[in-house]
Amino acid sequence: MAAPTIPAELLPRDGRFGCGPSRVTASALDELARVGRSVMGTSHRQAPVRSEVRALREGLHALLGAPEDHEVLITVGGATAFWDAAVFGLVEERSQHYVFGEFSSKFASAVKAAPWLADPVLVTSEPGTRPEPVAAPDDVDVHAWTHNETSTGVMQDVRRLDDALVVVDGTSAAGGLPIDLAQVDVYYFSLQKGFAADGGLTIAIVSPRAIERIERIAASGRYVPAFLDLGVVLENSRKDQTYNTPAIATVILARAQVQQMIAEHGDLRGVVAAQRSKADHMYGWAESRAWAQPFVSEDAARSLVVATIDLDGISADDVNAALRAHGIVDTDAYRKLGRNQLRIGMFPAVPLEDLEAFTACVDHVVAQLS
Ligand SMILES: *Cc1c(COP(=O)(O)O)cnc(C)c1O
Repeated sequence: MAAPTIPAELLPRDGRFGCGPSRVTASALDELARVGRSVMGTSHRQAPVRSEVRALREGLHALLGAPEDHEVLITVGGATAFWDAAVFGLVEERSQHYVFGEFSSKFASAVKAAPWLADPVLVTSEPGTRPEPVAAPDDVDVHAWTHNETSTGVMQDVRRLDDALVVVDGTSAAGGLPIDLAQVDVYYFSLQKGFAADGGLTIAIVSPRAIERIERIAASGRYVPAFLDLGVVLENSRKDQTYNTPAIATVILARAQVQQMIAEHGDLRGVVAAQRSKADHMYGWAESRAWAQPFVSEDAARSLVVATIDLDGISADDVNAALRAHGIVDTDAYRKLGRNQLRIGMFPAVPLEDLEAFTACVDHVVAQLS
């Protein structure tokens, strides 16, 4: 069989649909080129870089509608490093985790490996579903949520259940899914997904209760490596600095993207409305094709930022190879999930028109493969 072809007029303007990292917008890259000429390569302890950090912290606070008394922390390492920081500096004795995919399971494993903490409570569900929130045993002092399980395209509604701190992994969700930060003590995320920047940094939006916990553990005498010390993160963030050298390009790209999102949509509600239109298009398309269906059967659990679409009778590898040959890239299923599936990033930087072009291209390829 000849390799499938896609006519140029069907192609999206931009073919990057990965779920991590997100595509980076041309306007953010232009801003980096403009600002970077004077700011890149200068000290992160001086005003030019610190004012970029400040603008990012303030922009995130405003866009995400954080309560007045919540602070935006910034540190080096990404969400993966933050799991270890939380093991040292947020969990006092024991945590409870909702585990429903790769990312949620990784944080639980980091806690389990820490000899000074009790074994975590795991509330699990099958990939493609989400666990029901449940009250935790009395000795649990952290509820670990994953707002969007990027490996499966399942989103979870986050809320306070009891006195334990609500600690939410917002990587991939932040900036695209609704959240009420008054219900959250720590909302942490990397910047290369919903905020379309580059990797390497972590943001954590923390409540006064979380700050109190961080300060108490920092003063308790528990051994904490300096790089993972949230007390040090707090101190530096308040000065718009980081303990060690940050990825300055990531700061500038994220700052530009956050400001662009505010200019375009006003606030998170506006962004979420746009996300709903994109999700409606993707899932509606899959439901109307005999050879496709949304992987996630519960309507309300279907992610607004990561669409997972199972294929039936058509090889997703063949579809992805044909797409890649035409510059449409990174739509493979999460590797460990092992399903015959397309996984499409619908992050805020991806416009609806490109998703419409994407589905038209898949239709065109499938017609040639079947
Ligand atoms: C991508 C991702 C991570 C890991 O982010 P890094 O910046 O690579 O550490 C963690 N959690 C979720 C939900 C993710 O999507």
